[in-house]
Amino acid sequence: MKIHEFQAKELLRARGVATPRGRECTTPEQAAAAYAELGTPLCVVKAQIHAGGRGKAGGVKLVRSADEAKSAAAGILGRTLITHQTGPQGQLVRRLWVEQGSAIAKEYYLGLVVDRESRRPVLMASSEGGMEIEEVAAKHPEKILKASFDPQAGLAAADAARLAKGIGIPVELEARAVEFMRALCGAFVALDCSLAEINPLVTTKDGQVLALDAKINFDDNAGFRHPEFEALRDLHEEDPKEIEAGKFGLSYIALDGDIGCMVNGAGLAMATMDVIQLYGSAPANFLDVGGGATKENVTAAFKIILSDPKVKGVLVNIFGGIMKCDTIAEGVIAAVREVALRVPLVVRLEGTNVEKGRQLLMDSKLPIITAGDLDDAAAKICKAVAGR
Ligand code: GDP
Ligand code: MN
Repeated sequence: MKIHEFQAKELLRARGVATPRGRECTTPEQAAAAYAELGTPLCVVKAQIHAGGRGKAGGVKLVRSADEAKSAAAGILGRTLITHQTGPQGQLVRRLWVEQGSAIAKEYYLGLVVDRESRRPVLMASSEGGMEIEEVAAKHPEKILKASFDPQAGLAAADAARLAKGIGIPVELEARAVEFMRALCGAFVALDCSLAEINPLVTTKDGQVLALDAKINFDDNAGFRHPEFEALRDLHEEDPKEIEAGKFGLSYIALDGDIGCMVNGAGLAMATMDVIQLYGSAPANFLDVGGGATKENVTAAFKIILSDPKVKGVLVNIFGGIMKCDTIAEGVIAAVREVALRVPLVVRLEGTNVEKGRQLLMDSKLPIITAGDLDDAAAKICKAVAGR
C-alpha cells in the first residue's frame, strides 16, 4: 500500500525523523493561509500524488509570499501531472502539501528495502541526492553504500556513521545524520514498510539534516497489525481495477501488456506471464484467483480483466488442485454471457474435475479456444491477438 508524501512525513516525524513542518491543503486559499501560519519567508507548495518526479513536472513550487502560495496552488490543483512514474495518462492533483522551505546545502539519497538475500532490512545511502537511484546503480554503483540490520536491534550507530562519512555528510552534522538514519530504520520496522525512500535527504545552511521528500510503502501482509492505516488510503490514487479486485479478495495487479491473464496460484501466474513474453506478447495483468475461489469470484475476476481497454485477448490457465476446473468453467461462462466477449479467449484447464470443466465449456457453445498445455495456450493466445 502506498501513501502520500505528507502522510509519510507525519508518520516519520512522530518517530523522531526530522522533516519540515507543513500543512495539507485542498484549495488555493488554504495554501495562502498555510504560508502565513508556517511563518518562514520561503515555503514550498507540493502536489500530493502517489508518484515521484513531481519537481520536474512542475508539481513543486518555491513561494515567497501568501499570494505566491495561492497562485502556485491554483496552478497545481486540478492539473494532471505526467511524470516518469505516473505513466502517459498522468495523475490528477487533488491535494497539496505546503511546507516550510529549507535552505539546502546539499542533497543526498536514503532508501530502505528488505533484502531477501540477507533476509534483513537494508539501508542504502548515496551522495547523489535528487537523482533516481536506478540510474545511480547503473552508472555509479560504487556510490551506493549499504548497511543491513537486525530489525529487532535496529541500525548500529557505527554502521550509520560509516554511511554518513561515506556519502560526505559534513563532520559537524554526522551525529544528526546518524540519529536521522537510526530513527528512519526504526520507523521502517515499526510501520512494517516494504519500502522507504528519502530523496532528497538534505543538509541545510542552518545545520539541519532533514527529509525533504518521503516515500513509504507498507507491506500489505502486515496490514492486520495496522488497522489505522486504512484511513491513509487514497482511492483516487489506486487503479479502479485493483480496488474492485480487492473487494473480491483477488490478487490483481494491472500491467502494461495486452493479454489478460486469469491463473490460480502466484507461481503459475508468474510462469504464465513469462511464457506469454516468450511467445512475443505481454501480460495486461497479474491475477491469482487463489485456491478457494467461488464462481462469483471467477466471474468478478473475468469482468475486471475485460474492463481493461488494453486487453486484446484473454488467457485462462488453471491447474485445478483445491480449485476445481468446473468452478472455473462456470465462472468463465457466466462472465462471458454477462459481458459481451469482444476478444479471443484461450482456456487451458488441467487437474481436478477437468473433464467436467471441459464439457461445460464445450456445451456452452461460446467461442472459446481450448489448449492442452501452457506452451500451446500461450502460442494460441499470442497468435490470436497478433495483428488485432
Ligand atoms: P519529487 O520530484 O516528486 O521527487 O519531489 P521532491 O520532494 O523530491 O522535490 C523535488 C525538488 O524540489 C527537490 O529535489 C529540491 O531540489 C526541490 N525542493 C523541495 N523542497 C525544497 C525546499 O524546501 N527548498 C529548496 N530550495 N528546494 C526544495
Ligand atoms: Mn523526491
